[in-house]
Amino acid sequence: AKTSHSKLVCYDDEQNNYSPDRLAMIGQLRDAITNEELRLHYLPKVDQPDGHVTCVEALVRWQHPDRGLLSPDQFVPLAEQTGLIDDLTRWVLTTALRQLSVWRRVRDDLSVAVNISERSMNHLDLPQMVFDALTETGVPPASLLLEITEAALVADQERAGVVMQHLSGAGVRLSLDDFGEGFTSLSHLAELPLNELKIDRIFVKDMLESPNDTAIVRSVVELGHNLNLEVVAEGVETAEILAALNELGVNGVQGYFFTPPLPATEIMDWIGARTPANDPTQSGDQPPQ
Ligand code: C2E
Ligand code: MG
Ligand code: MG
Ligand code: MG
Repeated sequence: AKTSHSKLVCYDDEQNNYSPDRLAMIGQLRDAITNEELRLHYLPKVDQPDGHVTCVEALVRWQHPDRGLLSPDQFVPLAEQTGLIDDLTRWVLTTALRQLSVWRRVRDDLSVAVNISERSMNHLDLPQMVFDALTETGVPPASLLLEITEAALVADQERAGVVMQHLSGAGVRLSLDDFGEGFTSLSHLAELPLNELKIDRIFVKDMLESPNDTAIVRSVVELGHNLNLEVVAEGVETAEILAALNELGVNGVQGYFFTPPLPATEIMDWIGARTPANDPTQSGDQPPQ
């Protein structure tokens, strides 16, 4: 799926590695990090079945001077290919943790999830970068969840394992993102210090029409629970899918049914506004909205 995505953009086309367009984008991306053109939007993770929001996922965007707001698929692969990814990862980590430290003054149970690219996950310097950002912002390690994709594990299993052990040993939480797209061996999966499995959206979106997809989701939930992991489903767009996922026992959900990713200025209002209405356990001590 990653390859077909990247083919949509000319500067990421392997045939066109040195196109003027691509070279211009590389230079602009380098400047974008220092010129404050990157933005983070936040996607809530809604705990099931109680409907609480205790974690938001940071998703990067690039407010490009000429091209408008670019999605990560349009520039993260470019950053990975050119060595800019470590600067990008550092910026995302620091920005998300600074923001979280502000939110935690009023919501001290909140945590943030940050996506770590395959390349950074295979970098032995990553744990120190993470610890520095935690120290700078005063956020406890357990309030940071790092989302890694199966691709990172396939690229260099041993090295990624070392990086994960180091992070996990310090209390940082780890999630395996887009699970089901790759081919992690089950024995390897059981050895990794994971806290969460995230079922890829491709299995969730058609699960009502596709018995195969339902079977895959059911199996992943069971596998995750047998390994003592939280299981989260991404890409929930309808109430019917939410109900089906709840029947299968998922621990959390994300998706446009609740909200698309929102800027920092809007996400806390969104969480505050929806909690009473959607959380039956709180309806007794909150005025109706
Ligand atoms: P992901 O981590 O699997 O994030 C989920 C993506 O699915 C997000 O797209 C989110 O907006 C989208 N999504 C969530 N719910 C729904 C839904 O119900 N329907 C649909 N159609 N889409 C939904 P986004 O923000 O474009 O991010 C795409 C990918 O880019 C992410 O996938 C992640 O792999 C990567 N990414 C995002 N931010 C970062 C970052 O800071 N660093 C790195 N290395 N990668 C990032
Ligand atoms: Mg993610
Ligand atoms: Mg995902
Ligand atoms: Mg995904």
